[in-house]
Amino acid sequence: MYPADAEFGFELLVCRWAETSWPPTGRSGDSVVVARQLGTAERRWDTVVLECDPAGLAARGEFGPNELDSDLLHVVRNAPAEWAWYRDALPHPGYPWRYVRAAVHRAADRGAVETRRDGNRIQLRRTAAYPDWLRRIVVIENKPDLNATAARALSAQLRYDVDTGLADEVWVATETTGERVEPALLEDLPVDVGILAFDTGTAGDGPDGWPAAPGGVDASIEWYPSSVTPVPGERDDDRRGRRLELAERAYGRGWRSYHDTMRPDCRHFELRRFGRALVPYCAAKGRSQTAAECSGSCPKFEPEPPAWRTRGWPVEGGPGTGIRALLRRRREWVRKRSVREPGTDS
Ligand code: SF4
Repeated sequence: MYPADAEFGFELLVCRWAETSWPPTGRSGDSVVVARQLGTAERRWDTVVLECDPAGLAARGEFGPNELDSDLLHVVRNAPAEWAWYRDALPHPGYPWRYVRAAVHRAADRGAVETRRDGNRIQLRRTAAYPDWLRRIVVIENKPDLNATAARALSAQLRYDVDTGLADEVWVATETTGERVEPALLEDLPVDVGILAFDTGTAGDGPDGWPAAPGGVDASIEWYPSSVTPVPGERDDDRRGRRLELAERAYGRGWRSYHDTMRPDCRHFELRRFGRALVPYCAAKGRSQTAAECSGSCPKFEPEPPAWRTRGWPVEGGPGTGIRALLRRRREWVRKRSVREPGTDS
């Protein structure tokens, strides 16, 4: 049993589990960053886990909590230690220099580089060397009701993940059925893809089927994945750049970013504890709502009353602002904690 009928609730539990328990094969010395619903123009993944060098991840933090997009990465990764004209210092990006100049100014506004003028020329130098913080990218497709038909439908997507080599490891997460994995399932999934089975049943013994006490989901490995990291080749720079862009997006957004698209400012929006995860709950519907239905077009949407925003109740700005701030703080806190102590709980 997991919150909401759709995959969204299951996905949040998988993300929270990854945050506290990755890797499933046992503790490693890596720090972990977890994000959800991230990808490229061609493919979006449910859950993305970054395995990071702890010192590198701490050094990445010096560039601020927000993601560095590809233009900013071009500037920050190539910024020189000593003052230099930006056109001398940076490799030609393959597009007009005026866009690079704009990116240099954006990077300076964020404190990621320093700039000064030398006549008409903009010079820059780095504030710190951009670290080599990313070790591996692991992607997880969440499919709580994985049967042979669903496995067949997923197969092409997973084959794409294996073949493109952006990720180093590919998993499918499903809900445990108490039965052994059917051989037909394994036949339909690419053999390189691992299968994780989640037992969420222990988390639902409280009122309304919600957990009575902090517990958590358990995951077992039903099938071990193979590493799908491509062998070194001539397109390594391109691949490294695309992986870093993906990692930067994951670093900047995390998995609690659903508060940006849902409506915590609706009077019915609540956060409830499910095992070790905080997940959205709709008091009007009496269940956990999906991200898609929780929008301004929801027929039951009601803005929180203005009176809630007065007298600082219960958090400055009203509950909606409070929930957003809480989720943001938790994201920051987990990020800082994973830098200090890899693999720790929050
Ligand atoms: S009533 Fe609609 S908008 Fe409000 S919390 Fe529930 S699902 Fe979200």
